[in-house]
Amino acid sequence: MVENIKKRAESRREVPILDLSKQHESIRSELDRVYKDVMDRDDFIMGKELEVFEANYSGFCETEHCVGVGSGTDALHLALRAAGVGEGDQVITVPFTFTATAETIMEVGAEPVFVDIDPDTYCMDIDQLEEKLDDRTRAVIPVHMYGLPANMSRIQELTEDTGTVVIEDACQAHGALWKEKTVGGWGDLGCFSFYPAKNLGALGDAGAVVTPHENLAQNVRRLRDHGREGKYTHVIKGCNSRLDNLQAGFLNVKLKHITRWNELRRERATTYLEALEPVEQLKLPMEPDEAYHVYHQFTVLCNQRDALKKHLETVGIDSAIHYPTPLHLQPAYHDLPYEEGDFPVSERVSDQVLSIPCFPEMTDDQQQYVIDSIQEFFVE
Ligand SMILES: *Cc1c(COP(=O)(O)O)cnc(C)c1O
Repeated sequence: MVENIKKRAESRREVPILDLSKQHESIRSELDRVYKDVMDRDDFIMGKELEVFEANYSGFCETEHCVGVGSGTDALHLALRAAGVGEGDQVITVPFTFTATAETIMEVGAEPVFVDIDPDTYCMDIDQLEEKLDDRTRAVIPVHMYGLPANMSRIQELTEDTGTVVIEDACQAHGALWKEKTVGGWGDLGCFSFYPAKNLGALGDAGAVVTPHENLAQNVRRLRDHGREGKYTHVIKGCNSRLDNLQAGFLNVKLKHITRWNELRRERATTYLEALEPVEQLKLPMEPDEAYHVYHQFTVLCNQRDALKKHLETVGIDSAIHYPTPLHLQPAYHDLPYEEGDFPVSERVSDQVLSIPCFPEMTDDQQQYVIDSIQEFFVE
């Protein structure tokens, strides 16, 4: 067995966690055309491509409005501001997420209130949300972790008629569905990142907020462009967080392929689920009946996580840890009233998660090599 692994490592087979160059190769001429069009017209900010993208993306999410912004982080920040969340408000979210989710709550002067995650879905534990919801809760931010939607129908039931704003952190879940409805469209506001490595990625930073509410869309639209109404009137203090035309144009090209790319991710996931099911030492991702998971990451739990990661590295396979430290244990949040032990599921999961390569352009051969290499690790 060891011989076997060595031989393979020697043959220098390598599987990256994501291979964007392959994706871009397949659509290179379309991307080049966008660059040429925008250059030829000298039209870089708040122009045609952005308008087309906003129409396309609100259609994709089946929401009335879409406002392009500078990043996923800005999408969360501007969504909170647009909804009037600020000083003295509490916002419930999870500690098992990317830092931007809580960072932006602090940024607007509000207080993040954490609830733990569900041990099977890694999304918000809705029973804990129910316990924590009270008059001080201004907003709830569920995170659709790894591309799997949080239980949006229960969140909707719990927050209906309470005045609590629901802001979805859908930065990892473009095109994911909960009860056949696209994420981003469940809440009052849905926030997306088009960071290059996301399921739908620009060629730089980009993001968007979607919403069914005209007034919230208008607030975000003003905030992202210096509170402008017309060229010289600034009705509120905003910022500069516009989605530029080049990125919007690239996104228009990629948006045509996202449904197929998500399907390909799901096919890879199905293959992993079948092949790795017999490996008792691994806990595999699950998909509730109501959900359509888009596998931004295919993430397994393993209590020998670090050793498994190291083994994969040795044989040329890239893997990643999203995320090794829950936010309540990060230095940036030490002012919050939390300590180790407060969110046992998030803490345990952070020690055990490992994301393995699962992307649309991955070959059968590459995937089989990942599967063999994982099996070999546990046989030894
Ligand atoms: C990527 C991501 C963000 C931030 O998006 P950026 O575009 O990188 O600012 C926020 N939340 C989650 C869950 C993310 O995965």
